[in-house]
Amino acid sequence: MLKILVVDDEHVARRVVEKTLTRLGHTVVLAESGEAAWKKIQEEPFRFVITDWNMPIMDGVQLIKKIRSTTLPSYVYAILVTSNSKDEDIVEGLYAGADDYLTKPFNPAELEARVAVGERMLALEDSLTMANNQLEKLAMVDSLTGILNRRAIYKFARGELERARRVSEPISVIFLDIDKFKNINDRHGHLRGDESLKLIAQVIKERSRAYDGIGRWAGDEFLVVLPGTTAENAENAAKRIVEGINHIELSLPDGGSFALSASAGVATQLRVTGSAALLDDLIQAADESLYRAKEKGGNHVECTSL
Ligand code: GH3
Ligand code: MG
Repeated sequence: MLKILVVDDEHVARRVVEKTLTRLGHTVVLAESGEAAWKKIQEEPFRFVITDWNMPIMDGVQLIKKIRSTTLPSYVYAILVTSNSKDEDIVEGLYAGADDYLTKPFNPAELEARVAVGERMLALEDSLTMANNQLEKLAMVDSLTGILNRRAIYKFARGELERARRVSEPISVIFLDIDKFKNINDRHGHLRGDESLKLIAQVIKERSRAYDGIGRWAGDEFLVVLPGTTAENAENAAKRIVEGINHIELSLPDGGSFALSASAGVATQLRVTGSAALLDDLIQAADESLYRAKEKGGNHVECTSL
């Protein structure tokens, strides 16, 4: 059921439309002029407007033009009611942005049918919006692990870095890489390798705070973004995650099992002064810390502050 704004300067005409629409179960809001309707549209969202054409000051066509030239929360389906039935008038109304028109006098069945067409259009718009939202979500997620993909975690980090600059807070990132992951794939197969990546993502999630960002950077590399986190707390978080990965045990068909380990490089920006280029420096610093952790034999955490 819809909330429909009915605009007409004639009381009787408004009542006729209102009666039919209310009978159909729609909620009707009435406006006695184009200006009053425009005010209402700005105050609360409407997705359906039925407006008379001939009104003093702001007429129906002007109202529709205003609606079309403004960014509103969603599309407004507009039916123009006219007593001008000449073809060129109808054409003008449609060009102004009306989706449909009704010529006075019209019978309730015709109004009902026209509203049903509008309802179908709006339902189509809803399903398109839903599909778009779903696609947007999918485009952000790493399909194997369900955490953010590289593009999305980078975007998250950029946003958080900007926030850190505004509120003068530190920000830390953890770059994490599984130790000797190639061996795991070689010895136990790619599927077990995939399983390991999923479990690691799970551990990172469990051992991070709700407002940290967690993403798969590439292959066996993960990036955790920790807003408002000092070097010391970021180091502890990284150690917690590395320890959690140590506890993962994957069982094998022969009854045996194998363990995982990972290394992490932490980088902390104590005070954010610049903008976008800084993020690449921060990630680069975390990567260099990670390199040092690997050099120390893996299963280790190294830190840098900028
Ligand atoms: P290091 O301790 O130096 O990190 O050694 P490593 O063997 O882990 O070396 P590296 O990080 O360079 O290797 C990453 C490996 O991750 C290579 C590739 O076989 C494996 N890999 C990357 N993506 C996937 C994936 O989606 N699934 C699986 N199963 N393996 C992957
Ligand atoms: Mg690795």
